[in-house]
Amino acid sequence: MLVFRKGCQRICGLLVEHKTARAIQIELLTCKVLRVALLINSTMPPTERLYYNDSHLIEFEARVTDKTERVSGWTAVTLDRTAFYPTGGGQPSDTGTLDGERVLECIDGEENGVLHVVQGRAPEVGAIVKGRVDWARRLDHIQQHTGQHILSQAFVTLFNAPTRGFRVLNDVSEIDVELTNPTNEIIERAVELANNVIWEDRQITVRSVTAEEAAQLPLRKDPSRAGELRLIEIAGFDLTPCGGTHAYRTGEVGMIAVRTWERAKGLTRMEFAAGTRALADYRRANKTARAVAALFSASRDDGPKLTARIVEENKELHRRARALEEIAARVEADELLASTTPKSGGVRVVSRILDNREAQSLKNLALALITHPNTIALLGSHDETTARLVFAKAVAAPGDMNVLMREACELLDGHGGGKPDLAQGGGKNIDKLEEAIDQAVKRLI
Ligand SMILES: [Zn+2]
Repeated sequence: MLVFRKGCQRICGLLVEHKTARAIQIELLTCKVLRVALLINSTMPPTERLYYNDSHLIEFEARVTDKTERVSGWTAVTLDRTAFYPTGGGQPSDTGTLDGERVLECIDGEENGVLHVVQGRAPEVGAIVKGRVDWARRLDHIQQHTGQHILSQAFVTLFNAPTRGFRVLNDVSEIDVELTNPTNEIIERAVELANNVIWEDRQITVRSVTAEEAAQLPLRKDPSRAGELRLIEIAGFDLTPCGGTHAYRTGEVGMIAVRTWERAKGLTRMEFAAGTRALADYRRANKTARAVAALFSASRDDGPKLTARIVEENKELHRRARALEEIAARVEADELLASTTPKSGGVRVVSRILDNREAQSLKNLALALITHPNTIALLGSHDETTARLVFAKAVAAPGDMNVLMREACELLDGHGGGKPDLAQGGGKNIDKLEEAIDQAVKRLI
């Protein structure tokens, strides 16, 4: 009997009337969203999972027990036995070939077997096929997964900190650990222990136990399922239930390194790399470090010290440049004042458009001008796209710079404002810059 919600048809894009119940069952099983909506009375024999007994088996023969077209246009093939690991437990699916055709992904249909998504010509039901698992990808997953067991146990051993999450991502893997006060030193202590366990080349064994037997054992984590349990034991170090693919011995993991860590949702999330990923990450890091050192014609490990020195020198140069700009602004202000005729009451209005000045440079000049009594500075500048203005006045000088600036910016089709003695603004309408300043001058007379 097959029971599914009305929405299943729409979401999965199935045409129920054109498919057998079995075909629909397979399609729905592969739809993760709807898997829980199914109640299936299956008569299919489960796929024998060869990877449970031998994680290094990559070639096998099997009989095709079923196949169904997928919405994607590819075919899902079920076998009576398989060495392909399907996505699950934080570990991505294996890839490979079935009779030479690409297997893009494998999906766990639970008691309904493992679905092999084949791109290309799919074999017929009943055919005997040759499967081949991509070894480089499998080895990578073995190293990340076994590395995670070792690293997780290292945090338990040293800090009584259990692992709450694990994911193998594209370039790195992540674990979420209940580590309350993480520091680089604390994390490196666990990494050190994990690497020692790797280099001790301890044996890793797989065994099955009943739930009752498991209850008597010191498992690192509680089993997520009832019934018979598959346990992974790293000799003298770790015992945990797991359905993934693992190394024969810890030495196969090679090494493990934590790249970075952060606090996330009350846990400590760490990015780590094991085995070939650790080597790839070392190569990237080494390339980066050497590229930085080459800028100084220095050796790789001197990079951080030399970079820190450059940053400090740069800050000092900025400080000196600002001081020199202020001196230059005072000299320029004196020159501008000398060429400005005072108006009635001794008020001097300095209005100028200056070429290509940054806003800060314009402001420095305005501030230098208003250190002189009875002085008002109405300064403008522009680049190719933007006009900018600074209006400022000495303490006792007349006028409200904020009001003048708002009026000027309307002409410039922009925004601006400030206080009665200092206001800044700008706009896109560069052609109106002269008119905006003239308007402010007239309002002061
Ligand atoms: Zn595992």
